[in-house]
Amino acid sequence: MKRILFVEDDQTIASALTFSLEDEGYEVVHKATVQQALPELKNSFDLVLLDLGLPDGSGYEICRAMSGSDTPIVILSAVDDEANIVMGLELGAVDYVTKPFRLRELLTRIRGILRRREKTDDSSLYQLGNIRLDSNRARVTVDHKDVYLSALEYRLLLLLMQHMNQVLSREQIFEHLWDIDGQFISDNTLSVYIKRIREKIGDSEGRYIRTVRGLGYMAGE
Ligand code: CA
Repeated sequence: MKRILFVEDDQTIASALTFSLEDEGYEVVHKATVQQALPELKNSFDLVLLDLGLPDGSGYEICRAMSGSDTPIVILSAVDDEANIVMGLELGAVDYVTKPFRLRELLTRIRGILRRREKTDDSSLYQLGNIRLDSNRARVTVDHKDVYLSALEYRLLLLLMQHMNQVLSREQIFEHLWDIDGQFISDNTLSVYIKRIREKIGDSEGRYIRTVRGLGYMAGE
């Protein structure tokens, strides 16, 4: 049975959603505050569903406490500006759902995320020039030296390296990474992330992570 940690202080949403998730066959652990949720992180979950506005702090604190974990986080929030969405993605969220949301749609997205996790479980090593990515340990090295990437930068690099020598369009990147509607994220934001990754892996000229004008991005030598 898949286990979901659900952090939400609004009792109406919490009860309705817990009921629906359990009805779908998930085991749900519901917590209403940051302080109640943090100790739960030592247990293992298949997904974390997270409200941002909590009475004793922000859901982002829980994202931060989970850094380095590969458990997918889905953010539920009333705030839908790009800065907040990007911050959530940067902290490891894989999806961002704005309130009010449609229950059916949310359940479909959760199912999709869990299904994709199962499919991509065959983790392995990827090599691109002197860049090495070990997806078992979520570790990136350049010339055997560790490179520190944010959760979002890491997932973007992993995606590109999993599709070596294939051009990925901006839409494909959004679809693969977040299930998120591309309209929330500007082209500019994506290019900023690509630029940061290139800088960190010593590829400022875009020799390994190439921009394919008008089409998207491609990893290759
Ligand atoms: Ca709230």
